[in-house]
Amino acid sequence: MSSQTQSARMPLLFIGHGSPMNALADNGYTQMLANLGRDLPRPKAILVVSAHWVTKGTWFTGMKQPKTIHDFYGFPQALFDVQYPAPGAPVIADEARGLITGANIDAQEWGLDHGTWAVLKHMYPEAKIPVFQMSLDHMASPEEHFKRGEALRKLRDQGVLILGSGNLVHNLRTIAWDPSAPTHAWALEFDQWTKEKLESRDVKSLLLGANASEAARLSIPTPEHYLPLLTILGAADSKDDLKFEFEEMQNASISMRSLSLGRAG
Ligand code: ZN
Repeated sequence: MSSQTQSARMPLLFIGHGSPMNALADNGYTQMLANLGRDLPRPKAILVVSAHWVTKGTWFTGMKQPKTIHDFYGFPQALFDVQYPAPGAPVIADEARGLITGANIDAQEWGLDHGTWAVLKHMYPEAKIPVFQMSLDHMASPEEHFKRGEALRKLRDQGVLILGSGNLVHNLRTIAWDPSAPTHAWALEFDQWTKEKLESRDVKSLLLGANASEAARLSIPTPEHYLPLLTILGAADSKDDLKFEFEEMQNASISMRSLSLGRAG
């Protein structure tokens, strides 16, 4: 059988997206994303769990043509001019909805927020692969976010790339815009802690999130940028090799750590 006739199990990604300005950047980080887009098996569709869509209950975008949402302010016009006109994936979105008890389809409100397009713009600049998003239910526990990943796992065998978009360390109150500003010690400590817990597949510890330590509390002042990691871990199984695709701290308090699970070597 040729590789074309096999439906490959898709890997999982957790991407640290950082500032929306990364959408316009050309650096080691954006090169990493471009390389992933080139090297991964081509997905039939992409499901993004974005830090920037927090809702009551769980929602999937179900529109045929999701709009590009510029969900930020105070950035240059060039960022507001970015469009990511990928088609939606209403049929697969409805299937995904059926895997999660009580989940809903959003047919018109949301679209693709910058947690999605700032990443995919570098991975798949032609915007031809269908994309849909899953929201973060603000009432769900860390365990429930993990279980959503377990429920979605079977989509990987149908060619769906599940991508979590957030940041493992994300504290906007302690950000430094001076590029030479040193990274906060607690940010480095927690980033290193997540690295070690991921390497040892210590999901129990990772589920603690902001409760893990004082460094964790400062790194996760609000949970939305951390939670997509838990859904990605839930969609993984023990055979999925972990690979850190990128490691860097930006603006003193943001970890751009990005990883894949189950990426065939
Ligand atoms: Zn963000």
